[in-house]
Amino acid sequence: MFTSQLIEKFRQLPTPFYYYDLDLLRQTLARITEHGLAKGYQVHFAIKANFNIEILNIIREAGLGVDCVSGREIERSIKAGFRPEQIAFAGVGKTDEEIRIGLDTEIYSFNCESIQELEVLNRLAHENNKMASVSIRLNPNVEANTHRYITTGLHENKFGINPGKLPLLFDLIPRLENIRLNGIHFHIGSQITELRPFIDLCNRVNSLQNLFEEKGFLLEHVNLGGGFGINYEDPDSEPVPDFKSFFEVFDRNLEIRDGQQVHFELGRSIVGQCGSLISKVLFIKDGINTDFAIIDAGMTELIRPALYQASHRVDVLTSSKPPKTYDVVGPICESSDTFQRGIRLPELERGDLVAIRSAGAYGEVMSSGFNLRDRVKAVYSHDLD
Ligand SMILES: *Cc1c(COP(=O)(O)O)cnc(C)c1O
Repeated sequence: MFTSQLIEKFRQLPTPFYYYDLDLLRQTLARITEHGLAKGYQVHFAIKANFNIEILNIIREAGLGVDCVSGREIERSIKAGFRPEQIAFAGVGKTDEEIRIGLDTEIYSFNCESIQELEVLNRLAHENNKMASVSIRLNPNVEANTHRYITTGLHENKFGINPGKLPLLFDLIPRLENIRLNGIHFHIGSQITELRPFIDLCNRVNSLQNLFEEKGFLLEHVNLGGGFGINYEDPDSEPVPDFKSFFEVFDRNLEIRDGQQVHFELGRSIVGQCGSLISKVLFIKDGINTDFAIIDAGMTELIRPALYQASHRVDVLTSSKPPKTYDVVGPICESSDTFQRGIRLPELERGDLVAIRSAGAYGEVMSSGFNLRDRVKAVYSHDLD
């Protein structure tokens, strides 16, 4: 992935920075087109995974829509050239101001997560003389087998409406005059690397859709959310996730009505592998069991290891010496500011460059100014051509 020419260019740049391989992003989108869009599936990019305009432009050109979880994300999407009818808006805690942004923008769908939200949306829509298109987010109680901080589809999670509330909902919806129910929505978690949870989801959706139909609600669309995982251990073996297998699960298991649209919201699987965090070794310190390689990127640039015990592969770009054992750590005053423990890497010295891989999703967007550090910058492959 990193040619010697590219590494020479990295040496000229101030570190740390995010490097985005836009060719890989295009290849990923081509696979989504081939196995998803070409079958009539609609795919929304979960903009929270990466909201850089350059990235959004490429995703928009590929024909995807967006999935937003805040009012500012709706504004950013419009700024990036997405059309209102390509925008879905999810989130358990939408503020009145954010709801008004969605109403003013006339987005495709508010994905509503509670009964009270539906009532508030109806009132705000009435006050603003609008009809809100609504998709009900249901909690399907499906085990996603992923880290518990990124599981969202179990009863214990805060997301979605519990299907036990459906009788109440069926009674309420016809009375909400400024709301048009157009779909049901699900999202069971993130970094799901097996297909089984998606098969379980299809089965749940099929039976829930029947319940809606029995009550006379015909749904224009079904939205299955996102969550498809990527290969963090060995990104070079799978730079583009296996979208063929992913979409085939839905071809085979989802019961779709005539003319019904099927939507997805993918984040990580679209942008995860195209981004790397490039960082420089500041110091090497002898430890008792392993040596510490202290680098100039930390949890302020990439918080996933500290937040979810996530493991990102670390590649050494500028040394091919015999390996030694290192803990690769950042400069922040937190012990969780550690990228890898006890890994074998070519011997490092001050000034060597490393690439922290698979950092294109939930990386730069979660960067912070903790310790008053400068906000991390982005560099795109075409800038270095
Ligand atoms: C975060 C999120 C997604 C995207 O999840 P990925 O794991 O990045 O694919 C999709 N839908 C909703 C509602 C989300 O909150």
